[in-house]
Amino acid sequence: MKIPDIIIAIDGYSSTGKSTFAKKIARKFGFLYLDSGALYRGVTLFAQEERLISRLGTVNPELKHALAGLSLSFGEDGRLYMGPRCIELQIRTMEVSAQVSPIAAVPYVRAWVDERLHDFGRQGRIVMDGRDIGTSVFPQAELKIFMTASEQVRAQRRYDELKAKGEEPLLEEVVQNLRERDYIDSHRETSPLRRADDAFELDNSDMSFEEELAWVQGLIQGKFGIL
Ligand code: C5P
Repeated sequence: MKIPDIIIAIDGYSSTGKSTFAKKIARKFGFLYLDSGALYRGVTLFAQEERLISRLGTVNPELKHALAGLSLSFGEDGRLYMGPRCIELQIRTMEVSAQVSPIAAVPYVRAWVDERLHDFGRQGRIVMDGRDIGTSVFPQAELKIFMTASEQVRAQRRYDELKAKGEEPLLEEVVQNLRERDYIDSHRETSPLRRADDAFELDNSDMSFEEELAWVQGLIQGKFGIL
């Protein structure tokens, strides 16, 4: 199936399987996948390493100027790099997860990330996942999907992911982190997480990847009149 050069925006709560789904779409339709959350995680790691965020999550205003010296980019392999250093593993830890939402609520951090996301968006034919892609970053995206799943399913997925990476999280800690992030992400003042009016909702609690792909394929065929 050949689909036009569109932007596909995928938003939703934490650990709803957005990135796995987005990667599958990218592979199937020959799109470029971009993970906006990775950039917020990269900024968080940077703030931690530069000691610009306290243990309690208070952000030092110096971060604004420090960002001018930060370079984040995606390698060919889709991994995130800080300058020449691959930081893909570090940005996925619980330590970064615990502080990413307060950092992502800071307006100048969002502006910094948005600028980079818009640069990527110029090429079209991309699928990007995050929290505000369909509402704020690319409100003109031709296809918007809002993903949800039950809390239990989401926590188990995140827990399994962390275990597979060698961490030893407590399930309770993972649940707590998901709740906190979802709360902060949905209640912040600047571009909070919400479903765009024209987004299609996908609850994948009980769906296989094949079913998800069939769902999106049907959606694209219907929307763009492709047989
Ligand atoms: O997608 P992921 O869970 O890796 O994102 C990490 C965090 O980055 C989210 O919890 C949210 O606070 C922030 N984020 C955001 N806007 C986006 C993508 C991520 O605020 N578009």
